[in-house]
Amino acid sequence: MSTWHELEHELDAWGAAGRQATLWWRDDDAERPGPALERLLALLGDEVPLCLAVVPARADETLAARLATSSVGVAVHGYDHQNRAAQGKKSEFPEDRDPAASKVEIERGRARLEKMFGARLLPLFVPPWNRLADALVPALPELGFRGLSRFAPRRRGQTVADLVEINTHVDPIAWHQGGGFVGQGPALQALVGHLGARRSGHVDPGEPTGLLSHHARHDEELWEFFEDLKRALCSHPAAHWLSPADAFSLRP
Ligand SMILES: [Zn+2]
Repeated sequence: MSTWHELEHELDAWGAAGRQATLWWRDDDAERPGPALERLLALLGDEVPLCLAVVPARADETLAARLATSSVGVAVHGYDHQNRAAQGKKSEFPEDRDPAASKVEIERGRARLEKMFGARLLPLFVPPWNRLADALVPALPELGFRGLSRFAPRRRGQTVADLVEINTHVDPIAWHQGGGFVGQGPALQALVGHLGARRSGHVDPGEPTGLLSHHARHDEELWEFFEDLKRALCSHPAAHWLSPADAFSLRP
């Protein structure tokens, strides 16, 4: 459990060391425009760049039209977001699925979103439930991707040539309790914990800290937490937001 004071203290420590606490924001499961997405876009405003992970099979042109005038970057969130794990943890691309079939669907999703979003689509793959069979990771560059984003600190060093992994580290939804907000203490603990672990070198310091939201699944308490969090981070001089393009070094 952490407090707002501990977050401020951690960011102060980054500032005192002359370092920037880099952050990025990923929101998952986008399909169509609607009030929840509008609320997220309004909350983030111009201050916080957004990477929106869109489900290719469920998205339609109305989402592309809504985002056309925004600065949102779009990532490929699986293909149809169906669980295909015969057992165990949910995954659309589990170890026991035929890798050739997985690759076809990943490519189909990328092509569909490219057609819909054009240049707004970034070459980033976000596997549903943050899981992907190990053998598929090295195949991502040949499928047109330059970045992969899952959950939890990445392994040190670049493990696959031409593929940058930048994960998320703070997911404040209580999935195992059926949804809802995990609460301020645990949510801040995840954030302060990752920032502290980067600062001390216990995890890769070069991986920006990722906040993960699911706009369609927020309760009122979680919306209010995100509002407070955005305010706290945007007002601290050591906190530095990265656009997804900058985080993944996608500019030429
Ligand atoms: Zn998802």
